Amino acid sequence: ATEDIKILLLENINKTARDILDKQGYQVEFLKGSLSEDKLIEKIRDIHVIGIRSKTQLTEKVLREAKNLLAIGCFCIGTNQVDLEYARKHGIVVFNSPFSNSRSVAELMIAEIISLARQLGDRNEELHRGEWNKVSNKCWEIRGKTLGIVGYGHIGSQLSVLAEAMGMSVIFYDIIPLMALGSAKQVSTLTELLSMADFVTLHVPELPETKNMIGKEQFLEMKHGSYLLNASRGSVVDIPALIEAMTAGKIAGAALDVYPNEPAENGPHNFDRVNTWAKDLRGLKNLILTPHIGGSTEEAQSAIGIEVGEALTRYINEGSTIGSVNMPEVTLRSISQSQENNVRIIFIHQNRPGVLRQVNSILGDHNVDKQTSDSRNDVAYLMADVSDVSFNEIKSLYVSLETLSSKILTRVL
Ligand code: NAD
Repeated sequence: ATEDIKILLLENINKTARDILDKQGYQVEFLKGSLSEDKLIEKIRDIHVIGIRSKTQLTEKVLREAKNLLAIGCFCIGTNQVDLEYARKHGIVVFNSPFSNSRSVAELMIAEIISLARQLGDRNEELHRGEWNKVSNKCWEIRGKTLGIVGYGHIGSQLSVLAEAMGMSVIFYDIIPLMALGSAKQVSTLTELLSMADFVTLHVPELPETKNMIGKEQFLEMKHGSYLLNASRGSVVDIPALIEAMTAGKIAGAALDVYPNEPAENGPHNFDRVNTWAKDLRGLKNLILTPHIGGSTEEAQSAIGIEVGEALTRYINEGSTIGSVNMPEVTLRSISQSQENNVRIIFIHQNRPGVLRQVNSILGDHNVDKQTSDSRNDVAYLMADVSDVSFNEIKSLYVSLETLSSKILTRVL
């Protein structure tokens, strides 16, 4: 029953999520901070769902104790803080919110493109020091300039639309052919993009192929006096090479929101402690440095709360894994709650030959209205709606499925 579901929300998760989960009648415990490993191990034994953001580390050591855990909600984009493999092998479904903050990042890019073109950061900083410095030299409108977007996914394509509305012409480079929005044009190589763009902005994922994607060679290929923006991942830009290109005057300005090493805590000097080149960056002109705030808006946080809160609710109530990052995505149309003798059976099992035959022979004596299953690597997820079953029959179905050696988790909804 819903009131038996125990949920622990850590790290001050948005109220939108709390409201959704409260409304379901679950037992929701909310904590503002994260928990130490010891405390986490103690708490996690008892709960069915945990909601976290980026600080809580759900390692194998912690998850081993999570005997009742059905699902993990990462109320953020990244899922590196969770041992996804271990979770999958133990039938724990992990959800995140990959795209709720795309718009926020795209808007920040527009702000930074104009800020770089007008040297806003420097003028602001000078006047804060009392220095009046009215200049127009090397300050530009963005109208008519070329924006080169590297990675035309959720953020890149959103930015494309906004930039065209500002009068920019947009070109983009992506590894897959994509439909260009508005009048944007896809180019076939990164080199081509770099040689044409006045502003280069990076929106690719962190991958071995994107590591130091913009380095010494690429700065040479860029136009003289062009600008670079990176709000994707810190590994994508070779920072010492950027420092060199800016010092040489090749690059007229840059905006960085992400770094190879990012401090875990807010506070003074943390940035310098984790990045050896930090002091060389700081002196540079027309360089905007922000602490990974691209997606940090009230709107994004509330959208994340809704997206993950709803995904968890759908999983608890209906077994739907849509939006999961570590399980096959499986769903069936909603179960009819009104029919007392209808049940939905969820069977998470090792993906081995012969299991479906065994499951079907267990379900075979009953009326299976709908059934679906899918696998991801070594784990498969099966969902079946069975009608006209008595309480005792449901119990015996459950017991029979639980005895299969391939079983990871059985749920009856
Ligand atoms: P996405 O997956 O929607 O889009 C990424 C695009 O990059 C895809 O179209 C993909 O085909 C393309 N791509 C992959 N490898 C490529 C390569 N080698 N060369 C060219 N293109 C390549 O991702 P998204 O949601 O738009 O996010 C983009 C980046 O922004 C990610 O790195 C994400 O982590 C980061 N991000 C940062 C913030 C922030 O706060 N600064 C917030 C959200 C996302």
